[in-house]
Amino acid sequence: MNRRALCIHGHFYQPTREDPLTGTIPQERGSEPYSNWNEKINATCYLPNAQLGNFEKISFDLGPTLAGWMERNAETTLELVKTSEQKNVAKWGSGNALAQPYHHTILPLSSRQDKVTQVRWGIADYVHTFGHAPEGMWLPETAVDLETLSVMAENGIQFTILAPWQAVEPVDVTQPSRVELPGGRSMSVFFYHSGLSTCISFNADATVNADAFIQNNLKNAYADSSNDQLILLASDGELYGHHQSFRDKFLNYLLNGSLSREEIEYTYPGRWIKEHPPVKVAHIRERTSWSCDEGVRRWEDACGCTPDSSWKRPLRNFMDATAGLVDEQYLRLTRGWLKDPWQARDDFIRVVLGDQSFSGWENEQTARPLHNDEAQVLRCLLKAQFERQRMYTSCGWFFEEFDRIEPRNNIRYAAHALVLTESASGEDLLPKVMPLLRQIRDERGSSTAEEMFEQAVRRFKENA
Ligand SMILES: [Zn+2]
Repeated sequence: MNRRALCIHGHFYQPTREDPLTGTIPQERGSEPYSNWNEKINATCYLPNAQLGNFEKISFDLGPTLAGWMERNAETTLELVKTSEQKNVAKWGSGNALAQPYHHTILPLSSRQDKVTQVRWGIADYVHTFGHAPEGMWLPETAVDLETLSVMAENGIQFTILAPWQAVEPVDVTQPSRVELPGGRSMSVFFYHSGLSTCISFNADATVNADAFIQNNLKNAYADSSNDQLILLASDGELYGHHQSFRDKFLNYLLNGSLSREEIEYTYPGRWIKEHPPVKVAHIRERTSWSCDEGVRRWEDACGCTPDSSWKRPLRNFMDATAGLVDEQYLRLTRGWLKDPWQARDDFIRVVLGDQSFSGWENEQTARPLHNDEAQVLRCLLKAQFERQRMYTSCGWFFEEFDRIEPRNNIRYAAHALVLTESASGEDLLPKVMPLLRQIRDERGSSTAEEMFEQAVRRFKENA
């Protein structure tokens, strides 16, 4: 008999909101009675879903920057999430968590080198959290191009989830597809059901009652077919209890009785693909995403979703120039020290995660033993590389207005990367980016990019 299955994917993610100097999140407006948004969302969404056991029965990705925050501030939640995932590994030989590129960077806008770093850092974080290698990876904003998929495949990732309109030709969303890549590799893609994903995400009336949701919405999505069919719904995980109250309970009810009464099973990609390897080939539309009609334009320029945001292009130009300056000094100063500067950067995530000591990393990566002052410079340069990665966090370009915490944080990270590189190299780098900063203009805000940057530089220098 043909099987009907449902997979609900929840994308759980928050960017870093810690002040780079203090390492703590400042009191955030609107999050009362909690001191910041992460704590509030933990109380309304992450923890209740974990306590209800929902993380065992959905597919999910837990963004590294959120997982790191949980490790330090919401240990109970993280332990419950990990236990849920481990139950699936024990039972089905495959986990239900997907990895995510470390800093939620829009990878089609990144260089190949940065794609590699973000993918490898995301995998390392996953191993740090779940204790085994990931099979799938969720792409930030599902932004995709062939180079990104190739980098993922080269690093052992087998599948991802995309929106159906990211395929060139119409696809059968009830089966995973295969995207062929250069070098004989391929990536399996689960295309989510667009109508139902929109419904569960934005139509609050449809998710009041799980039984009604199945009768009125889900059942219609299955074709009258003799094939096994999987319907995958992709959603923001914070929907379930944070954006919409009680939806953690909706999810729980759906997965614990409602579906089975209708003979619909719940599953997740890693489990489904074992029995249903992709048969059909799909071609992807490069530089597309799930949250902008104009591809990935939202993260580099004004677009239909954010028409009044001409500051976005200059912000990206400033970041790219900063990355160029930081990398130039990194390569110049580490020549003769590091066996492979890019491999060294990729492996540095183990130090960030606390899985390896700096000196252990140094022993592995250097071509010869370094003097203390040289090791100091190296540490500074790698810290700069970390900041230069996180200054590309996609949230900095997501909204229409510039004077918000997200672009401000990215500018702070860029300032930190430059200050660290200046102190390591003795070169004057700040004057080189000032003209680009002045081009980032948004009349609506109370502080300019230059002011944000200069304030950050002052603080970093005072604390150096
Ligand atoms: Zn858009």
